Amino acid sequence: MSYKVTLIPGDGIGPEVTKATKMVLEATGVEFQWDLTVAGQGAQDIFGTPLPDYVLESIRRNKVALKGPITTPVGHGFRSVNVALRQRLDLYVCLRPCKTYPGVPTRYQNVDIVVVRENTEDLYAGIEFERKSPEAAKLISLMHEIAPDKIKEDSSFSLKIASETGARRIVRFAFEYARANGRKKVIAVHKANILKASDGLFLNVARQVAKDYPDIRFDDVIIDTLCMRLVRAPEQFDVLVLPNLYGDFVSELCAGLIGGLGIAPGANIGDNIAVFEPTHGSAPKYAGQDKVNPMAMMLSGVLMLRYLGETKAADRLEGAIAAVIAEGQSITYDLMPNPGSPVGTSRVAEAVIEKLKKEEDYA
Ligand code: NAD
Repeated sequence: MSYKVTLIPGDGIGPEVTKATKMVLEATGVEFQWDLTVAGQGAQDIFGTPLPDYVLESIRRNKVALKGPITTPVGHGFRSVNVALRQRLDLYVCLRPCKTYPGVPTRYQNVDIVVVRENTEDLYAGIEFERKSPEAAKLISLMHEIAPDKIKEDSSFSLKIASETGARRIVRFAFEYARANGRKKVIAVHKANILKASDGLFLNVARQVAKDYPDIRFDDVIIDTLCMRLVRAPEQFDVLVLPNLYGDFVSELCAGLIGGLGIAPGANIGDNIAVFEPTHGSAPKYAGQDKVNPMAMMLSGVLMLRYLGETKAADRLEGAIAAVIAEGQSITYDLMPNPGSPVGTSRVAEAVIEKLKKEEDYA
């Protein structure tokens, strides 16, 4: 069987890590038909939009995509392609497993946390009104009626949106994932003591949903307490489910706990579409240097293989990546314990393929 997959190399270091990932995925023996598309600055230059419709159509048709990072201009230019993609395809789950691999220089061992971040609501809903805009003025006048003296005339707004539907489906995903992957405990993360309406709703829904999963333990924790506990004893955590913004911060924090962005994979998942991409961004300062670690994207490829039901190939590829890390000969600068001789992106891909082949020789 050959899988049709939309391929979005992205920009910055995206094309390099995508090429390396495509090579190792093909070396597993699983067959792919790649539907190559352009998004981001490259698409802006050609099509006048960073996210052309044909990219979305390709993903809708193929149902699975592998995506490199895409730069988001700060304070000007187009809005984030990454956020738009998640919203337009309703990819409401951002799944970010963070696991220590032996050989990675890190402060902690035995970390194996799965971050389940809500991907479409919260402060990322994209409902924002700038100071002095007609929309902001309208909102301020409404707010003066319902909450007098709470808002200054020169305010800007980024609205935090939390729906019961949004909370229910993300928490349910976290429990289903825990059950399907032999996980023991789900923790809902919130700030419901202060944000009683939005995070309060998230917490109440999480408590209700937890009752449907008596085989999985459930707890909740306030976001600030979680941050403190994560840096003290991260090995105590299992599955975390969080609203969008906290999920963004916590998944990056967890990437730090396991040795950095170079080995932190991710997936954006909806009801029948999934886009696999590393947690890291386009690291423009390293673009075109054959320097950065492709393993975060390769491990996103492992998640894709698991999603496609190619469990054996996923295990083999993850094993080959882990073996390359443990051996410590063909690793990039970010995984070097001390000043040493790091290799480049393409050499890592070759080393992973050599491991996959060697394993075949012994089989
Ligand atoms: P970044 O993740 O691109 O890079 C931050 C630093 O992390 C790099 O300078 C580098 O030191 C390290 N790093 C990142 N990836 C690495 C890798 N594979 N191997 C080794 N080291 C690695 O974060 P940034 O600089 O804040 O963002 C750059 C751009 O990427 C921004 O425009 C941002 O909006 C965008 N971004 C895109 C995505 C996405 O496409 N999903 C995600 C995050 C950020």
